Amino acid sequence: MNKTVSFSKNSINVFFHILTKCNLKCRHCYINPEQHGNNLLSASTIGTWLSSFSDKSKNTNVIFLGGEPTLHPDLPNAIKKATALGYQSITVDTNGYLFNDFLLKINPDEVDFISFSLDGAKEMTNDKIRGTGSYKKCIAGIKAAVSRGFNTSLIYTVSMANIQELHKMPGLLKELGINRFFIQVIGIRGKFVQTGDAADIRNVLQVSKKEWLNRVPDVAQKVAESGITVTYPKVFLSPEEPFECAGLVADYYFKFPNGRVYRCPLCEDFPVHSMAFRDDRLVTTKPMNENDLFRLNIPEGCVMNKLIQPENLKYDTHGKPEYKIACCLLKEEIISKEG
Ligand code: SF4
Ligand code: SF4
Repeated sequence: MNKTVSFSKNSINVFFHILTKCNLKCRHCYINPEQHGNNLLSASTIGTWLSSFSDKSKNTNVIFLGGEPTLHPDLPNAIKKATALGYQSITVDTNGYLFNDFLLKINPDEVDFISFSLDGAKEMTNDKIRGTGSYKKCIAGIKAAVSRGFNTSLIYTVSMANIQELHKMPGLLKELGINRFFIQVIGIRGKFVQTGDAADIRNVLQVSKKEWLNRVPDVAQKVAESGITVTYPKVFLSPEEPFECAGLVADYYFKFPNGRVYRCPLCEDFPVHSMAFRDDRLVTTKPMNENDLFRLNIPEGCVMNKLIQPENLKYDTHGKPEYKIACCLLKEEIISKEG
């Protein structure tokens, strides 16, 4: 059975972009070096920034990301530092290239998950989105991680370019020995929106409510039945369902190499971060910032969604929204009995 994972004040989730450099150029990449910087954080800065969010009284989780985080030679040290600081779960998100002999420098018990991104069940579909050769590399990376005893998860970002083969994923996940499956929805944000024709990208890639509901919950159920726990975003709320903005009720932090710290991923293309590291000290920024947006209460649900991707809203003939868009951090989960 799927259940909505409620936001909790007892956990802190840190999404730590330790660099923005990447070997790939995925079509939907949300990294925006102009806003996030392109520097490589030193090992000591990574340690200091990690310690600013460690809190032994809470359930603290860190996800190391990039760019491609394995391009950072100090990633293994960052993992050890997070363990020493008491982070309760440590995940590394990777495109699968696993640079710097990453798998040989850490032990399976030092990370909870290595999370691979694959955007197609078939090579052709994935490589059209993520680049030639990326499917084979990702599959090889998963196999290497599984054979060395690491827990693995897989992230599939659903768009109109790959939703048609989402139903092929249950078999592939099982064959690869993946432990958890995360379905994401494409966000119209990042450098690719600014460099491409944003309207065209929206028309081509954005998924309608009908497409999403017709396909995603069903595949998620099948994956869970095969013994793999699945998480996917809620996205659409009926007018009666309660809306909550994570920026007001939960502790999510998205840290970038230029020192910006956001609480909302949809704000990341704009200089509205509510915190920043200055000389390795965490400070709050002056209003107006993202906090001022979180408090706005609109019938469409998420304010940032309405600002940056209003095409996924629909109105009735009286101008009333037919549904609300949930916070992008609100997830549905189906826990497999085996997972
Ligand atoms: S692997 Fe990640 S960071 Fe690199 S281009 Fe693709 S989406 Fe962007
Ligand atoms: S995605 Fe929307 S609802 Fe969620 S934190 Fe951002 S502004 Fe709030």
